[in-house]
Formats: sequence, C-alpha cells, structure tokens
Amino acid sequence: MAGKRTFTMIKPSAVAAGHAGDILSMIEKAGFRLVAMKLVHLSKHQAGLFYAEHDGKSFYEDLTRFMSSGPIIAAILEKEEAVAEFRKLIGATDPSKADAGTVRKLYGISMTENAVHGSDADATAEREGSFYFSQLDRV
Ligand code: ADP
Ligand code: MG
Repeated sequence: MAGKRTFTMIKPSAVAAGHAGDILSMIEKAGFRLVAMKLVHLSKHQAGLFYAEHDGKSFYEDLTRFMSSGPIIAAILEKEEAVAEFRKLIGATDPSKADAGTVRKLYGISMTENAVHGSDADATAEREGSFYFSQLDRV
C-alpha cells in the first residue's frame, strides 16, 4: 500500500520571487495537510548531503550551489497516495515539459530552478523528511 506522506521543498528562486504563499495555497487546495514546515537556508555542504544520490552527475554542482543560494521552505505533507499525487501536482522535472497548471509549469524557470522538490518514493519521503524534522516537529 502506498504511503500517506511526502516531502517537499519550495526552492530558493520561488521563495525569493515571493511565490511561496501561492505554492502553499496550491498544495493545500490539492488536499495535502501540512505535517511539518520550516524556512531554512542550507549551506552548500548541507545541500550536497541532501542531494547525495546525485553526487557525480553533471548538474550536481549547479544544483547544490542553487539550493544553498537563499532560504527554502521544507515541509512534510499528508494525503492518500501522497508521493504520486504530489508529483502529479508539481509536474515534470523540466518546467518546459510540465503539464499546464502544474507548480513547475507555473513557477519553474529552468531544470535547476524548477520551483519545488517532491520525493520520488515512500522510503525517500521518510528519509528526506527526517533530514529536516525530528519526530517532535511532526504534528
Ligand atoms: P526530480 O526533482 O523531478 O525528482 P531528479 O531527482 O532527477 O528530479 O533531480 C533532482 C533535481 O536536480 C531536479 O529537481 C532538478 O532541479 C535538478 N536536475 C535534474 N536533472 C537535471 C539536468 N539534466 N539539468 C539540470 N538540473 C537537473
Ligand atoms: Mg528526485
């Protein structure tokens, strides 16, 4: 059975542009409940740890530099089939290929600056949520 929780980050470009409220509103209107949330400014080292699975790929340096360039909003979200439902809401990794009405289509600028992160599986969601939040932070 698919899990009820996923993990997201609103990326620095979207926070800096003042889209955090609109994106959180889209998330809530799509039926996700906020389980935990915080505003964080990662160091480049911390961004590298979060994206360790991509270490060695061509885009890793740009991605970690970008993700540490300003504050992000990290959150754990709850809904039935959360991982799949959230990836539907945000759209394809490349904003130019994302479906109309998706978060990445509306607020993404490029592959790197694609507005939001969404976990790709239940186990990833748990690991990524635990990177930012302890059990005590979750309501
Ligand atoms: P997703 O975020 O859709 O799960 P990935 O896990 O494959 O995508 O990649 C993590 C992040 O790295 C993406 O959201 C995107 O910002 C960046 N990225 C992935 N592939 C590329 C690429 N080919 N060029 C530039 N950035 C990329
Ligand atoms: Mg991914």
